[in-house]
Amino acid sequence: MKSRLARANSKGKHLKALALLSGGLDSALAAALLTKEGVDMEAVFFHHPFYPSKSKSRLQAEDVAESLNIRLKTIKLEELIEVVKKPKHGYGRGLNPCIDCRIFMLKKAKKHAKKISASLIITGEVLDERPMSQHRRALDLIEKESGLEGRILRPLSAKLLPETEAERRGLIDRDKMLDIRGRPRRRQLEMAKDLSIIGYASPAGGCLLTEKPFVKKLKDLFKNTENVTARNIDLLKTGRHFRKGRNKIVVGRDEDENTKLLNMKGNRDYYFEVPECGSPTTLLLGPKSKEAIETAASLTAYYSDNKNDQTIVAYGIKRLDKTIDVHRISEEEINKLRVA
Ligand code: SF4
Repeated sequence: MKSRLARANSKGKHLKALALLSGGLDSALAAALLTKEGVDMEAVFFHHPFYPSKSKSRLQAEDVAESLNIRLKTIKLEELIEVVKKPKHGYGRGLNPCIDCRIFMLKKAKKHAKKISASLIITGEVLDERPMSQHRRALDLIEKESGLEGRILRPLSAKLLPETEAERRGLIDRDKMLDIRGRPRRRQLEMAKDLSIIGYASPAGGCLLTEKPFVKKLKDLFKNTENVTARNIDLLKTGRHFRKGRNKIVVGRDEDENTKLLNMKGNRDYYFEVPECGSPTTLLLGPKSKEAIETAASLTAYYSDNKNDQTIVAYGIKRLDKTIDVHRISEEEINKLRVA
């Protein structure tokens, strides 16, 4: 296996690059292609709050880095929340500001590249594969606004794009680059077989900003919360969500979600359960008015195994040390409160 240090490319010249690994196939292939050419490479994985809770993208990026024997740094991107709130270049079909998101990530990549003295950034982007951020004008714009003109190499489509500085200087052999375009992934799948790359994520997988139910909950959150945090976003990935004025009520759907909700509970949030029967755990966020407590308790009772007209629900902040007696809530009322 080649050393991580002092790799030289096929022309014997040293070139250091930073690859963006997403856990998907395209970025894995792009990195593999360049390491095959002898480019000295490190990689970065951006962990943003909009990955699904069970996403394996990070593990997949780690597997790729390990198989290519390159160092991988994970950078957390909580600030992406602000980019999603007010994107300069608008949204795709969901709440996905792909152009702004790419610019933001590449600016971060540029900073890290400087730290490790890498002069080239490698991405797995394929010309015209994604409608919003991978057509030619978008790629040019992203490059310009991230301040990386001539320094982003997209090996899978490089022959269809202007030469990078590294190609001009003969540090990368342009003939070895590819000319893949559009959505069909036949060539990438063949390459994956040849290069024995397995277990990668699907191309659009890994971002909840394109998924309708999540987008609905996120819009509601943005509308009702001033300072949105990563915890707020994580909560959107768990349970059934209800809105009553300034209150958010989240009801667990199974044991696993009940535990997750308790782990995500804030210091001032109430939690609710129906004692002595199968019960969801419910969180109440926002002001603790009598009405809000009643609603959270009614929802807890509704989704518990107790189907009586009247139910005693326990609640509290640290312990379930208070109780409230509630009437069964109607389905109509539930539908009015439901966020997604
Ligand atoms: S799909 Fe999501 S993570 Fe990917 S570029 Fe678009 S907004 Fe960013």
